[in-house]
Amino acid sequence: MSDLTDLYQSVILDHNKRPRNRGKLPHATRVASGDNPTCGDQCTVYLRMNGDRIGEISFEGAGCAISQASASLMTTQVKGKTVAEVQQAYAQFQDIVKTGSAPDEFTELAAFAGVHAYPARIKCATLSWHATLDALAQPEAVA
Ligand code: ZN
Repeated sequence: MSDLTDLYQSVILDHNKRPRNRGKLPHATRVASGDNPTCGDQCTVYLRMNGDRIGEISFEGAGCAISQASASLMTTQVKGKTVAEVQQAYAQFQDIVKTGSAPDEFTELAAFAGVHAYPARIKCATLSWHATLDALAQPEAVA
């Protein structure tokens, strides 16, 4: 079990050290921002659809390690997904961070299971997901 904990911790550390899809996305057609005033986290999500799927996604943000690592991991998890699939992934992620129980099949999202012990940090972990869902709810803008 401690091997698994180490693995999950290394996922978070790795996303902090080498954030994926960080920076403004050129020609983004949807942008949404969110903040988490209790911790001081900010996150802006840029995306471009490809048909009914997320074609490209990136984020810009500042804040605690959990919020930034979660945003980085989130972008790798939702790229190529439909809105329904993103909602499903978010429901799974929410379940993980609220209950601390990981699903049977391996998912890097379970790296955030430890957050459930710190209820105030759940908002840190879910901030970027909220921004993405807000962006997905927008009408497509002209690039
Ligand atoms: Zn935070």
